[in-house]
This record gives sequence, C-alpha cells and structure tokens, in this order.
Amino acid sequence: MLGFSGSRERDGSEVERPEISAARIEPCSAGCQNDPDISNIANSLIMTAFDFRTAPHIHSGAGATARLARIAAPVISDRRRIFIVTDKGVRQFGLLDRAIASLEEAGLEVDVFDGVVADPPKDVVLLAEDQARAFGAEVVIGLGGGSSMDTAKLVSLLLGSKQRLEDMYGVNNATGPRLPLILIPTTAGTGSEVTPISVITIGESTKMGINAPPLYPDLAVLDAELTYGLPRATTAATGIDAMVHAIEAYTSKIEKNPVSDALALAGLKKLHGAIETACLDGSNPQAREDMLLGALLAGQAFANAPVGAVHALAYPLGGVFHVPHGLSNSLMLPPVLRFNSEAAEPLYAELATHLGLHASTDGLVAEMERIADVVGIETRLSQVGVSHNDLPRLAEEAMEVKRLLVNNPREMTLDAAMACYEAVL
Ligand SMILES: [Zn+2]
Repeated sequence: MLGFSGSRERDGSEVERPEISAARIEPCSAGCQNDPDISNIANSLIMTAFDFRTAPHIHSGAGATARLARIAAPVISDRRRIFIVTDKGVRQFGLLDRAIASLEEAGLEVDVFDGVVADPPKDVVLLAEDQARAFGAEVVIGLGGGSSMDTAKLVSLLLGSKQRLEDMYGVNNATGPRLPLILIPTTAGTGSEVTPISVITIGESTKMGINAPPLYPDLAVLDAELTYGLPRATTAATGIDAMVHAIEAYTSKIEKNPVSDALALAGLKKLHGAIETACLDGSNPQAREDMLLGALLAGQAFANAPVGAVHALAYPLGGVFHVPHGLSNSLMLPPVLRFNSEAAEPLYAELATHLGLHASTDGLVAEMERIADVVGIETRLSQVGVSHNDLPRLAEEAMEVKRLLVNNPREMTLDAAMACYEAVL
C-alpha cells in the first residue's frame, strides 16, 4: 500500500517540535519573532502528526470489468489461476460474466466460490480457503458487496501467509504476506475495497474484526454498471452507511487528519448529491458513478480516521436482529449525532455548511432524516422488530464495541446509549 506520515508517532497526541515553527518565521526581517501576528501564523502551522494509507491503484470506469484482464495485468503479471469470491445473488444477476469472459479471453483459468453470505461466518471463510487451495489459486478477486470483499481479503491472507485465522483477529495482528488481491464492489456503501478491515461472525452473533495493512488490496476497480440493478432499499441503506462513514471519519476523535478530512468532505458531497437520484432512477449512470466514488472516498477516510458511536450502536442491531449494516447505521445516526453535538457541534456545522445546509448539528440531522424519508428507509427500531424490552441488551452490547467508542467525539455511557435507542424506538 501507499502511505505517508507525519514526523511523529501515530497516537495523534503530539505536535511538531517548536523549532519547525521557528524555521518557518526565519525569513522575516530582524525582530519579527516578537511580532504577535507572526506568532499567530507560527502557531497555526503547528499540526498533529498522522499516518495515511490507502490502496495503491484505483481504476474507475463504467464497464471496467469487461476490460478486467487489461486493467489488472500489473497485478496478475505471469500468474494464471484466478480465484473469484462472491455470493450467489451476484453470480445469478450475471455480474461476474464480463469479468470472467475478460480473464478467460486472456488465457487465464478462473474458479468461483459463490458461498458468501451477509455477515460472513468464519466457516464460510474456511470453506472458501479450502476451495482456493484445491484450485491452486494465485490471485484472489473479491467481487460483490462488503461481505464478499471481506471474505476475499482473508482468503488471500490465509493462502499467502502461514498465520491461522484466529491469530489475525484485532488490530495489526495479520502480518501477511498474502496473494495478490483485487476488490470490485457491487454496492456503494462499505468502501471495503479501500479499507484494511474484514469483519466476520463467530458463533451466533459475535463480530470479529481483522484490521491490518496487508488487507488493503493491490487494486480496487469501480464499475458503476455493476450497481445499476441494485434494489432501491439496498441502494438507500448502503448509501446512507457510506454517508455515515464520512461523517464519523470527520469527527473521529483520535486519528482525524487533514487527508481523511478532505476525502470525507468530498465523499459526503458526492453521496449527498447522488443518493436520491440513485434510489429513484437506479440506472442513472452519473448518480451510480457518484455513489461508488463517494463510498470509496468515505472508505479511504474512515480507513484512517475510524468510525465511532453510530457504528458501535448499530452493531448489536445487526448481531441480535440481523438488521442490515447500512440500515442499522441509518437508524442510529440521528440520536447519536444529537448526543455528540455537545462536543462536535462545530464539526457537524462544517459538514452541514459543506452541503449547503443550515450550519448546525440540527441542520445536518434534519437533512439525513429527510433523505431517509425520501428514499423510503425505516426510521424507527420498532419497524425492524425491536421492542422496549430489548433496549438494555442492545445498550450493553454496544458498550462492548470499545474499539469504535474510543473514536467517538463525546464519551458514550450506558445510560446515553439507552437514551439513543429509546429516542428512535
Ligand atoms: Zn458502515
């Protein structure tokens, strides 16, 4: 992966050394160091150190999968056996056809694992690994939604490294190497094609995350034509999820940085401008391309400035009630943003201004609620089967998602989590 970093540690708590500021004011005429205006400029140059990483190669173009062999040639090189990880729906819709035709026309051998399901269980990952080994896979392609891409990432790691899956859980525990990896999304939401994260399910509902740089792919391919047939509800939920990625990255407490900020702003604007058209006119090429690009930009942002309490409170809805990830986040966004506003009002106001809205948390939340209404997505927990008695369990499980809660701009408590769920029951 590509990366660059500031000059100090990643914990984000330290600043550049004072001599950097001194060097910046050196060209002034004698005595200017005592000038208060110059001091202010020097202070404004002090910045927090940070890292930023992303995938080294992104190709975007409608119909790109028809040219996949050519686009992916630098990754495939002289390898011949290409293993595609996907789900049955994607395969039945014919979304693999052009990619497979392109690869086979180039003389490559292709095998397909189509057993991925939502919130992929560990067993599915291991089944895909077995099939890939039996085939002798040399390159792995994840083509589908977030679950297919997450599974493909792990298959490439399991085949390329000597680590067991159990030893990869957590942050920076997966060390690689992995097989060459190409990711091609068929939904505009997770941004998984540019994140170093894989989430799988252990047992009935426990989510385990694997987060490490080897999970960035060698190549991400955006082909908007793959998303033309996405149903409206999926377009709405995954699109709002991507908007949440941008919003939470922009207010991420620990690793917020200027590069992720720029990407979050650009991604949010594209998604905001396109989501209604994409939902109401699914084959609109511009709207579909903007949604895919917006989701990718938001993905690049939150891969480096992680999401917070909206996602933490959304996770138990997926685990306990099997509410799709995007819808869970859409449901929890308004109450969490209102709770956070005490700490993050200026940042939410910046986001609202960027979208041409009233510069406040209320302006941003009202717009997200309006969009949910227009695209016809559920807005109450009771609409997805949650009752009042379920709230304590949801709140307790949300408080366990500490890896995300630490990024939230305001400290989330059990009582506050309860109140957030109650507000949208
Ligand atoms: Zn998400």
